[in-house]
Amino acid sequence: CGIVGYIGTQAASGILLEGLRKLEYRGYDSAGIATVLEGEIHCVRAKGKLINLEEKLAGEDNPARIGIAHTRWATHGKPEEYNAHPHMDTDQRIAVIQNGIIENYRELREALKSRGCEFRSDTDTEVIPHLIAEQLATLEDSSLLEAVRLVVNQLHGAFAIAVISADYPDELIVARQQAPVVLGFGQGEFYCASDTPALVPYTRAVLPLENGEIARMTPLGVEIYSFDGHRLKKTPRTLNWNP
Ligand code: GLU
Repeated sequence: CGIVGYIGTQAASGILLEGLRKLEYRGYDSAGIATVLEGEIHCVRAKGKLINLEEKLAGEDNPARIGIAHTRWATHGKPEEYNAHPHMDTDQRIAVIQNGIIENYRELREALKSRGCEFRSDTDTEVIPHLIAEQLATLEDSSLLEAVRLVVNQLHGAFAIAVISADYPDELIVARQQAPVVLGFGQGEFYCASDTPALVPYTRAVLPLENGEIARMTPLGVEIYSFDGHRLKKTPRTLNWNP
């Protein structure tokens, strides 16, 4: 599939849709977008090609400056709107997109269900927002980065994820384990995408995340950590791109 994320100074939704257009070859079972707007997650999804999502969003003037978007290549769950990403937790405070497969999602899903969690989709991905919500409820310092870090450590498989939360409107968390994701660096604005063509219209300063790395992106900058919580020193490189 294709994933795109943006945090910064501009309206996110146009940038995210443009990014999805560049990644549409990666999947067209469904498309979806989530932004943080007036303290809520605003999530719109559509079955089929990106054009269906664009039609749903037509006429919408969304000023949100943070968001994530996805085109899906279904592996777990039919290509229907209820299985489209982003997926959210029960309270709809957290939105997640995923590229890849969570191999142990069945156990995680059963465990979440036994703790009273209700699922809205058949995907492997939906366990992630529910697990993050649980972590946030138990963590003392309630850091979104720390909650996502603890959750990715429970996931088996090859995946790349991007996470936003209505309660953390200035944070985009991105993590990688065996599925590609590249970060893009602008002036007070930052991007992530499955592949560089989605970033090229906006920046040439890029940094591919490595396996077992998690990034916290804010309008002030990007911090990168290993899944075991150590801060890593990384600098973006300049892309030579002659289209
Ligand atoms: N396994 C996830 C799903 O089926 C993600 C698939 C993808 O990478 O698009 O929803």
